[in-house]
Amino acid sequence: MDRLQLKNTEGGLTPIPPEALLDLRNDLRGEVITAGEAAYDARRAVWNGLIDRKPGALIRCTGVADVMAAVRFARRHHLAVFAKGGGHHVAGACLADNGLTLDLAPMRHVAVDPERRTAWVQGGATLGDLDHETQAFGLAAPVGVVSATGVAGLTLHGGMGWLLRRHGLSVDNLLSVAIVTADGRLAKANHHRNADLFWALRGGGGNFGVATAFEFRLHPVGPRVWMAVPIYPLDRAAEVLPAFHEVMRAAPDDLMAIAVFWSAPEVPEVPARYHGTPVVILLACYTGPFEKGEEHIAPLRRMGTPIADLSGPRRWTDAQKFLDADYPDGAFYYWKSVFLDRLDAEVVKVLAQHTAARPSPLSSIDVWSLGRAMGRVGAGETPLFRRDAPYMIGIEANWQARSAAEANIAWARAVFEDLRPFSRGGEYLNFPGFLEDQDRLLRGAYGPNLQRLRAVKAQYDPGNLFRGALNISPAD
Ligand SMILES: Cc1cc2nc3c(=O)[nH]c(=O)nc-3n(C[C@H](O)[C@H](O)[C@H](O)COP(=O)(O)OP(=O)(O)OC[C@H]3O[C@@H](n4cnc5c(N)ncnc54)[C@H](O)[C@@H]3O)c2cc1C
Repeated sequence: MDRLQLKNTEGGLTPIPPEALLDLRNDLRGEVITAGEAAYDARRAVWNGLIDRKPGALIRCTGVADVMAAVRFARRHHLAVFAKGGGHHVAGACLADNGLTLDLAPMRHVAVDPERRTAWVQGGATLGDLDHETQAFGLAAPVGVVSATGVAGLTLHGGMGWLLRRHGLSVDNLLSVAIVTADGRLAKANHHRNADLFWALRGGGGNFGVATAFEFRLHPVGPRVWMAVPIYPLDRAAEVLPAFHEVMRAAPDDLMAIAVFWSAPEVPEVPARYHGTPVVILLACYTGPFEKGEEHIAPLRRMGTPIADLSGPRRWTDAQKFLDADYPDGAFYYWKSVFLDRLDAEVVKVLAQHTAARPSPLSSIDVWSLGRAMGRVGAGETPLFRRDAPYMIGIEANWQARSAAEANIAWARAVFEDLRPFSRGGEYLNFPGFLEDQDRLLRGAYGPNLQRLRAVKAQYDPGNLFRGALNISPAD
């Protein structure tokens, strides 16, 4: 058999002596999977079917001891390290050809302390794992809106979901991170210990080590919440969006909404003649006092007559899964984002035109209403510098035939280019396309905070072992 060669920190390949590989296997409880082994193809598959990378080795870490052993092995051989949480990064950043991936999928434990209202969440847990455990105590952490997404990747770049106007981003609710740093040791980072590292971890991505667990502050949520799901025809967008803007300006922090330019779902509540036609869905979740929810979502439901209205109360855990079926594993995806400063007639026209021109009816353009708790955190308090934009546009190209990739990616890029004139810049790093133009992404997301991130990187990972999705190079 050919000797294993792994990607090193210089970008070249390092041959690994068979005895070193054997030592590694002996040091671990989890498996090391390399090309040619039976499990290889299943283990290297990620959510986005477009990603077909062939990592040199995948280490299935079963706990902190495995992560420490794997990082020490990487350090000894000067190997680049890629971490995998939930495997949902759109660009497949947890994998590189010939790379060494530390796969934390076996580490999904969540431990809730109901009295302190905190939870420790392991680095391979999904949002669904977290919601299940916290809801047993009527609590929730602010994370994203699809339950199969990994907590780790989502949190390390911010984390936006239904609680962002009430409690901010996921990172704003982090109390501590347990992380294996480049020296192969477990460190704890919080406001009191390794405070500079803790600052960097609240947005700086996977550049500083492998996070083995996150401690979140929890909040009372549910068990039932109100969801608004009125569906309006696309040709009403010019009236619906200004009204949406006004409603969200006046709405309480407990109401978060996304105006989704999409296709009418093929469900019995939607008249058959509308099935698959382009629509605007005002998807919202009210998480405040249950008895007030119907009243607070009402204005979103009466902007003229919707073609259908799927609004109603749901369990929080169901609200968190409301979109799950729309994002199956192995389909094809390309997602980008723009922070937007206005939502006027000109912008709405661009959104409507591109919605009508989608090559795939599965694709959407999502107008996330931001602000409130997210905006109350200062631009330097975490690395995430763009806190003040009232909207973020998620541009989602979603399609089913591999051969349609070029047209769908081109569509998403065109939407992005046409929206940029309405933005002061900055993209959300969890929707980063295929990480093209890394310099623009880094400067746009971090602004003046990039220098401080590079200084923390130099302190904790001077050899640049941890590549992150977007690599932050150590300061000179
Ligand atoms: C269907 C779907 C819905 C989504 N919805 C939302 C949403 O509502 N809100 C939102 O904010 N985002 C959302 N996202 C984007 C999501 O936050 C990112 O795709 C994120 O990267 C997913 O994290 P992961 O752990 O699953 O990814 P992975 O592919 O496993 O990891 C992504 C990157 O994170 C880093 N990383 C992962 N685990 C670790 C670790 N333990 N230690 C150190 N670094 C690590 C690595 O750099 C890795 O390359 C969604 C994505 C999908 C696919």
